Amino acid sequence: MLFDLATPTVALFERAERWPVRRIFCVGRNYAAHAREMGKDPDREPPFFFTKPADAVVESGVPVPYPPQTSNLHFEGELVVAIGRGGSRVAEDDALDHVWGYAVGNDLTRRDMQAEAKTMGRPWDMAKGFDHSAVIGPIRAAKDVGHLAEGPIQTRVNGEVKQDADLHELIWSVPEVVSFLSDTIVLCEGDLIMTGTPAGVGALQSGDTCTVAIEGLGEISTKIVDPV
Ligand code: MN
Repeated sequence: MLFDLATPTVALFERAERWPVRRIFCVGRNYAAHAREMGKDPDREPPFFFTKPADAVVESGVPVPYPPQTSNLHFEGELVVAIGRGGSRVAEDDALDHVWGYAVGNDLTRRDMQAEAKTMGRPWDMAKGFDHSAVIGPIRAAKDVGHLAEGPIQTRVNGEVKQDADLHELIWSVPEVVSFLSDTIVLCEGDLIMTGTPAGVGALQSGDTCTVAIEGLGEISTKIVDPV
């Protein structure tokens, strides 16, 4: 073997074991007000997905260097779903059986690069899937916290509230997202799904601290530091 690859992992809340990350799927435009702020009609579009590499994961509290090739790094506070049982063509009614737990996430985005990709008809990969772009807090088991369908989700930058919404505003619910995604790919244990961000996205500068909080899951915190 030429080299060994370590599987990226995410912390489990109050457990020594860790969650091996298989893939990171992300839902685009899943809150109506955010779709509108991005210039889209939220009512006419089925959910769509993009991905981040598994090794883009960053834990809460780990400083993130301001990424290269952007001058408009955005935060996106999101509910993250952790898939504990794989499956394809999962029915909505069965979808929650595949959900092991939940975490708080921050889908860091090079917004200027994403805007250029949209204009040019190019993929979003480099706008979304760069190093350290998936901040994921400790995963909490659904058997402990229940299945989250409502409750406040809030993002603050240096203590100032930027996003303030409720999970019930998700256009596509967690069961719907799991079902849709499992029609597209075979879902596997270890997959994570970032479920989309509410309105209020905005820029982060080096030195800023971005906090995302979801009721029942606690909060995660990320300090942006100077580029390496
Ligand atoms: Mn997002």
